[in-house]
Amino acid sequence: MGNLTLTNVTKSFGTTDVIKGVNLRVEDGEFCVFVGPSGCGKSTLLRIIAGLEDASGGEIKIDGVPVNNTPPSKREIAMVFQSYALYPHLTVRDNMGLGLKQAGSSSAQVAQSVARASGMLSLDALLDRRPAELSGGQRQRVAIGRAIVRTPKLFLFDEPLSNLDAALRVNTRIEIARLHRELKATMVYVTHDQVEAMTLADKIVVLNAGRVEQVGRPMDLYNDPDNAFVAGFIGSPK
Ligand code: ADP
Ligand code: MG
Repeated sequence: MGNLTLTNVTKSFGTTDVIKGVNLRVEDGEFCVFVGPSGCGKSTLLRIIAGLEDASGGEIKIDGVPVNNTPPSKREIAMVFQSYALYPHLTVRDNMGLGLKQAGSSSAQVAQSVARASGMLSLDALLDRRPAELSGGQRQRVAIGRAIVRTPKLFLFDEPLSNLDAALRVNTRIEIARLHRELKATMVYVTHDQVEAMTLADKIVVLNAGRVEQVGRPMDLYNDPDNAFVAGFIGSPK
């Protein structure tokens, strides 16, 4: 469990304002999807939540605690990227266990947590392989497994399916939905894919040029978009 509150969050790179005052609440256990066109600030906002970028202004709270000055490793979040970001020299087992090991867990605790995540994602047969010996879909499952191992308060996904082919994209999407149900975890998920947003989200946040255009449940946005931009992304024509 973990909830997230963003209050008037801004981000500028030099003189360019990229995030222009975002207010948002993500509840415990909610699946929140950010959608919007390329360049609208989805990844930047996710990286600010993760602590990989500093906000220029505003406040980020996790479980009610301000984390603006908390380093990423102390935020109890796990992030899954589009590129899997696995260590090539480590086995699947060690890739999955590394975060816990670095956080000081005992070998027995690491082994137990890796076994649990591996079972949930059907990775048992792959534990001794290295990333180069895996398919793209398998690598992404390992990256998701690595996130689960650490039982974070918040899972952050940045277009995790976009490097997969169509069939794998559907399978992995279903797997992420199942994990969300089983773990009852809070997830913030970035995509520009309307189908992913509609099928995964409890709540969709439509972003446009660094601002929140509309927030709502998928069917509410679909049936009642505030404007043509939201309709173009999610809804029926207005
Ligand atoms: P999205 O993920 O929605 O495609 P991004 O968050 O990656 O969008 O980027 C939003 C805007 O911020 C883009 O115009 C991008 O060029 C700019 N941007 C992102 N990161 C940087 C950076 N490190 N330096 C300068 N500009 C950046
Ligand atoms: Mg992006």
